[in-house]
Amino acid sequence: MVTPFTTPKLTSPCFHSLFCRKIPLPIYSPLSSSFLSLSKTLNPNRRLPLSHSRHQRRHFAAVRAESDNGAESARRYDFDLFTIGAGSGGVRASRFAANMGASVAVCELPFSTISSETAGGVGGTCVLRGCVPKKLLVYASKYSHEFDESHGFGWTYDTEPKHDWSTLMANKNAELQRLTGIYKNILNNAGVTLIEGRGKIVDPHTVDVDGKLYTARHILISVGGRPFMPNIPGIEYAIDSDVALDLPSRPGKIAIVGGGYIALEFAGIFNGLKSEVHVFIRQKKVLRGFDEEIRDFVAEQMSLRGIEFHTEESPQAIVKSSEGSLSLKTNKGTVEGFSHVMFATGRRPNTKNLGLETVGVKMTENGAIEVVDEYSCTSVPSIWAVGDVTDRVNLTPVALMEGMALADTLFKNEPRKPDYRAIPSAVFSQPPIGQVGLTEEQAIQQYGDIDVYTANFRPLKATLSGLPDRVFMKLIVCATTDRVLGLHMCGDDSAEIVQGFAVAVKAGLTKADFDTTIGIHPTSAEEFVTMRTPTRKIRKGPTSEGTPDHEAKAPAGV
Ligand SMILES: Cc1cc2nc3c(=O)[nH]c(=O)nc-3n(C[C@H](O)[C@H](O)[C@H](O)COP(=O)(O)OP(=O)(O)OC[C@H]3O[C@@H](n4cnc5c(N)ncnc54)[C@H](O)[C@@H]3O)c2cc1C
Repeated sequence: MVTPFTTPKLTSPCFHSLFCRKIPLPIYSPLSSSFLSLSKTLNPNRRLPLSHSRHQRRHFAAVRAESDNGAESARRYDFDLFTIGAGSGGVRASRFAANMGASVAVCELPFSTISSETAGGVGGTCVLRGCVPKKLLVYASKYSHEFDESHGFGWTYDTEPKHDWSTLMANKNAELQRLTGIYKNILNNAGVTLIEGRGKIVDPHTVDVDGKLYTARHILISVGGRPFMPNIPGIEYAIDSDVALDLPSRPGKIAIVGGGYIALEFAGIFNGLKSEVHVFIRQKKVLRGFDEEIRDFVAEQMSLRGIEFHTEESPQAIVKSSEGSLSLKTNKGTVEGFSHVMFATGRRPNTKNLGLETVGVKMTENGAIEVVDEYSCTSVPSIWAVGDVTDRVNLTPVALMEGMALADTLFKNEPRKPDYRAIPSAVFSQPPIGQVGLTEEQAIQQYGDIDVYTANFRPLKATLSGLPDRVFMKLIVCATTDRVLGLHMCGDDSAEIVQGFAVAVKAGLTKADFDTTIGIHPTSAEEFVTMRTPTRKIRKGPTSEGTPDHEAKAPAGV
């Protein structure tokens, strides 16, 4: 989640070989010859892909110099691009490549809300088991806090509002069905051939989908990842995030193991929906890699809402009692009486049984595909990889950017590297977090002299709601250039607010630019343009000055 300010350094001859050595210029052909060259292994009754009948397609070097020793043999492929996995990255790359005139096929596993070796669905993790269903459940769970807030504004209810779990699940699942349909339409309208089944690479230009072989000039691996759970006794009783998003009933008491963003988001969801929530983290603090003050602040605010954090506790076993309740045994003791134990302990790339070892695609220790250059090429020059399977920055917009950049690189004749600088991100905890740029710790390491501006205040809404809600905001400024290096917020609407400010941080604007911007009043966001005095000045030398800014935000903005 934490995003580097600089592009990762990657070096490889892969891109150079693609553009400078081997590949002839794209050949324009009004009727793609790739259709004519469909492999004999394809179903002979297969209909002409819409793309080929509807559009005039450019054909990208379907005839290609194959040998490295100069003895060039012509080879034809079924497709210019064959994508394995129709999640965020795969759909984006395939659609854009097809729009650029390439003949494209994508294979994807059959639909299921719970992923497995044999189930997935068009749209991928974000749409079916990640961002979208998660945010829908966040919306559902926020109401309870809003009901609590409403009393101070004069609302009373004769009876406590009731929540119907099955309505929420049914409506959420109907929306997922609608979205997977939309994604299929997007691919269809772009002229991409969608093949349902499990893809496996057979050789650098051939993919096997459930026994049928398809050849392609380029293969894109965009298979994403799946939840990972440690192999402790009783792990079969635990659920992962896929299952947690699709439970048949509300948990009475849930243990969530993990201190990352997914763990905190689910803690907020179940807490808001009135489950008793315990979070178990191995470390002292949640959200490793985030700004230290944000880590402290969010945990404090979540505790105030009734979530119990068990820090420095590693689970060792799950035990099921005769009446069905679960106990979690940790290094510090045993907590009993859980209806559910959820593990949010990371994800692993879906690289098993993909044929990668056979064709020589290099992988990292945790099974992620190693990209050997900044253009998402793998160690096999005709095979490319984008998204979570590469374990670079595992976020949907990043997978989209990588997919789009790859389409430009391969089919637009405009080689483009994904730009990893100042990627904004959010945690949809309650309260939520938004951040862009460097943490204070990273800024000190990279720039030495920085000024830190913070505000920790009671938002206007809390003055009448009477709830202990607060907001924390932070600007990190380079003391020598005045450039804003990092911007962090925890409080209502922070994801929405930080998305706007991310433009300024990415553009390299200075604190002076922020200061000359007029605030929108009364908002919490205006604090980012009205922070006048640094909370601390950090210099390479020993002197640090400044005052902590823990005053209540002036209600009338004066
Ligand atoms: C609970 C949760 C919440 C998240 N929340 C956010 C968020 O708020 N914001 C954000 O930016 N990101 C979020 N993410 C991360 C985001 O979902 C991923 O970064 C993104 O989906 C990655 O896209 P991708 O294309 O790499 O892979 P995926 O979207 O995972 O797509 C991979 C696809 O490949 C298919 N597949 C796998 N193997 C094969 C095979 N052999 N053959 C055919 N198909 C195959 C899979 O079925 C899947 O559909 C969240 C993730 C989770 C789990």
